[in-house]
Amino acid sequence: MIGLYPGSFDPITNGHLNIIERSTKIVSKLIIGVLDNCDKKSFFPLADRVAMIRESTKHLKNISIITFDGLLVDCAKINKADIIIRGLRNLSDLHFETQLDVINKKLDNTIEIIYLISCDKYLHLSSSIVKEIALKKGDISKFVPEAVVERFRRRDIFKKTSSIFNT
Ligand code: ADP
Repeated sequence: MIGLYPGSFDPITNGHLNIIERSTKIVSKLIIGVLDNCDKKSFFPLADRVAMIRESTKHLKNISIITFDGLLVDCAKINKADIIIRGLRNLSDLHFETQLDVINKKLDNTIEIIYLISCDKYLHLSSSIVKEIALKKGDISKFVPEAVVERFRRRDIFKKTSSIFNT
């Protein structure tokens, strides 16, 4: 069985990684679909988001990473996914996912979507919270894989270097 785990992953967090690791025990092949959404301004460029996922999932087998910008059901069909996997943290995720589920089933009712409830230690973790902590110079190493910590560090150094050149 092939599973597709879609998201923005801006950036990948330990919560995402937990869903990925658990999914690999359910499906024989997991495709991580990184959304290239022009309407939603992302903090990290698509290539960086993909690279961080690649570096953070090196220890896992039977994983591939793709990017997509069309309909989720089309992406699943093109990549021959049997199921779509989503994570659920709280009632607002459930509310949003219920809407998405109904719409996706109307578009294509041959693809099943399954939901993995977040582990308690990641229930309050989101990419937005990580970005907020990092931008306020807080320690994000408990919340994200090392590859993400490294990317934030590089952005910081780049910002400092360019501000030196600009003065
Ligand atoms: P999207 O833009 O689709 O919400 P995200 O990258 O924010 O993309 O999330 C991708 C998927 O991972 C979603 O199903 C989301 O609910 C889930 N997810 C995000 N953070 C966590 C977490 N801490 N624990 C479990 N699932 C999560």
